[in-house]
Amino acid sequence: MTVRIAVTGAAGRMGKALIEAAHLAEGAKLSAAIVRPDSSLVGADAGEIAGLGKLDVAIAGDINAVLDDFDVLIDFTTPAATVANAQACAAAGKQLVIGTTGCTEQELTAIQQAAGQTAICMASNFSTGVNVTFKLLNMAAQILGHDYDVEIVEAHHRHKVDAPSGTALSMGEAVATGLGQKLKDVAVYAREGQVGPRSKDEIAFATVRGGDVVGDHTVMFLADGERVEITHKASSRMSFARGAARAAVWLAAQPAGLYDMQDVLGLK
Ligand code: NAD
Repeated sequence: MTVRIAVTGAAGRMGKALIEAAHLAEGAKLSAAIVRPDSSLVGADAGEIAGLGKLDVAIAGDINAVLDDFDVLIDFTTPAATVANAQACAAAGKQLVIGTTGCTEQELTAIQQAAGQTAICMASNFSTGVNVTFKLLNMAAQILGHDYDVEIVEAHHRHKVDAPSGTALSMGEAVATGLGQKLKDVAVYAREGQVGPRSKDEIAFATVRGGDVVGDHTVMFLADGERVEITHKASSRMSFARGAARAAVWLAAQPAGLYDMQDVLGLK
């Protein structure tokens, strides 16, 4: 069976990479693309906006106009758009791959509810390398234990709107879980002024924004006399897009539920 993939947010940085990845993915084809209703690109060819030449997929301005044309939707847009799409996909029995980051607890609850009706795969990072890194971090935390201070530094391009990155937060979760902690109990998101010495268990985040950085993450485990650094650097959005297309093909055969990229890669 060929999985028919729709890409929403098609005009975005990730949207264009996703069009290419869906077009090239084995066992799948790009069958629909969606942009904001007020976009001048409604009616344009999806392949042409992604620099691939004509693919004969006309861009729609509304998910409801193409609901019959796809099996799985890939959504890397904004939290508000993603929640609306999750509800539309749940009602129509379509599967959904979500890459959007920066969702609030309330938005995550709405996505979880939609996953009661359809299969949803949501991940802060769809690259295979980053998902292996999550696994390495969890292992390092279990072995190094509480004697090492953990600090997470991430850098992204100047347009990114949420901080710290969803990937940095997932890395923090991987470390916290390995240490038997909950990230929300130990996370520190800013330091300024007389903050005093570092507390033993905190996992702290630092954020760099600028230029065209696709995504760099370093997790440091710092002890007296040594430090371990585990780093991932993305140099192309295609690493995320290829992973999302792979997730879409995998998701097409799954029952309702909330999955992540670790499920897709069999890393659990
Ligand atoms: P972007 O701003 O370039 O693209 C977002 C696009 O969504 C824009 O073109 C915008 O017009 C469109 N959009 C907004 N509302 C819409 C709607 N209702 N209908 C259709 N389109 C709509 O941003 P980006 O860099 O492509 O990133 C998008 C999201 O993906 C961010 O949350 C980012 O953090 C996340 N991201 C996730 C991963 C991952 O692997 N999970 C990787 C990279 C980026």
